[in-house]
Amino acid sequence: MKKVLALVLAAVLIASVAILPGCSGSGDSAKKFAIYSDNAFAPFEFLDKETNEYIGVDMDIMAAVAKDQGFEYEMHNEGFDAAMGAVQSGQADAMIAGMTITDERKETFDFSAPYFDDGQVVVVKPDSDIKKLADLKGKKIACKTSTVSGEYAESIKDKYGFTIDYFEGSDTMYQAVVTGSADACVEDFSVIGWAIESEKVGLKILTEPVNVKGYGFAVKNGQNAELLKMFDDGLANIKKSGEYKKILAKYGY
Ligand code: GLN
Repeated sequence: MKKVLALVLAAVLIASVAILPGCSGSGDSAKKFAIYSDNAFAPFEFLDKETNEYIGVDMDIMAAVAKDQGFEYEMHNEGFDAAMGAVQSGQADAMIAGMTITDERKETFDFSAPYFDDGQVVVVKPDSDIKKLADLKGKKIACKTSTVSGEYAESIKDKYGFTIDYFEGSDTMYQAVVTGSADACVEDFSVIGWAIESEKVGLKILTEPVNVKGYGFAVKNGQNAELLKMFDDGLANIKKSGEYKKILAKYGY
């Protein structure tokens, strides 16, 4: 009897030793970071109509970095303003959304190293009578909520005497100009360039890019430092391996 008991005890001990690390291990690897992004910001994130999946530079960088660093994540393509709100409320662990790194944003976000540079341009219809910024007097400019484009437009609106209408998405903002409900819009140069060339959106770039700065992956200030470090390490690795270059080349850069 004693022998049986000892055997049972031994079996239980072995089993618990075998299970315990297994438990904590699978718990760790099951951690999925919630990453938020924009939903109509090609070529950084946009819906592939054939597969019904979000693709783009940011989506590919995120996948490559996660693979390199061995973490799991779930992408939520909800829009730019929604992504910023989700990070600030703690609903999102991080965001990657063609987000410009600015000093003002650094007060509420911690950013990765920059992974792409871009600036903002003013955009009009090809046949517009607006030929220079001074022609914006009395006009209506479409801008996207919470963007640096909106900030730029706000900074020059009194000087040039125009008003601003806000939109949640880049796509709806472009349509406002195409249909004539707005006279111009402001957008990141690469993004509107893609829309005009690849998506044949009937618009024209009027000005040279201003406020050219880096895009960064962002977490809430002081939160998710480990994830931020993994992103930076992964980004450095995919730059070294040449994968980062391949991703950009895939989208024509
Ligand atoms: N780069 C711009 C910004 O950070 C726009 C980003 C976006 O619309 N996804 O404000």
